[in-house]
Amino acid sequence: MVEIKSLQFRYDEGDFFLKIDHLKVAQRERVAIVGPSGSGKTTLLNLIAGIMIPRSGQIVINEVEISALHDSVRRDFRIANIGLVFQEFELLEYLNVLDNILLPFRINRTLRLNREAREHAAVLADSVGIGNKLARYANHLSQGERQRVAVCRALVVNPTLLLVDEPTGNLDAVNKHRVLDSLFDCANKHDATLIAVTHDHDILDRFQRVIDFKQFYAHADSAS
Ligand code: ADP
Ligand code: MG
Repeated sequence: MVEIKSLQFRYDEGDFFLKIDHLKVAQRERVAIVGPSGSGKTTLLNLIAGIMIPRSGQIVINEVEISALHDSVRRDFRIANIGLVFQEFELLEYLNVLDNILLPFRINRTLRLNREAREHAAVLADSVGIGNKLARYANHLSQGERQRVAVCRALVVNPTLLLVDEPTGNLDAVNKHRVLDSLFDCANKHDATLIAVTHDHDILDRFQRVIDFKQFYAHADSAS
């Protein structure tokens, strides 16, 4: 479950302003976020993930007010509970596919990297068609393959919240649906909430609700 109350956010530079009075996404809900470029969709995902904190207001995830946690606690909470697929993927170029997928286990000491985790990583890679590329370095992958590695890395900890920025942006129709199938399967299996930013109107009918970012953008206009 994600609940946002009276959120206000500004970057240190520039005049972008985000104001969300109330937004609630239920556990297990599948929500797509659409809206014009620059309206703050990525910013919102980063706030929900606790990568950035709001100037004021609250962000609550599974009963935990993530916006009130200290830095290192917030980071560990994110890695253990939230699967994030960034718009730019953020793979580590000097690691191979398997190690990129297993990265959450290396950066959060509360997660145990055991045989089960490695097998899970391989199964996930198979499910999105990159099972034969586990030993390949990230910088030797196509954009679509990089994206699928990022999806596997987000799923490997069995998160209860999945945040995905443009999940199908670089993919052809077959791989688009494969990636979505993996995301939705994982969400089903773990009763996870799924929030995806997308420009792709072909995939909107796979979601239960579509939030149009224009409503928040309108607030920003009137507040400035
Ligand atoms: P979207 O994902 O909807 O395209 P973003 O959330 O990336 O939009 O950006 C929203 C606005 O915030 C844009 O105007 C962008 O230029 C601005 N912005 C993004 N990152 C920063 C930053 N680090 N500092 C200042 N402004 C930023
Ligand atoms: Mg964006």
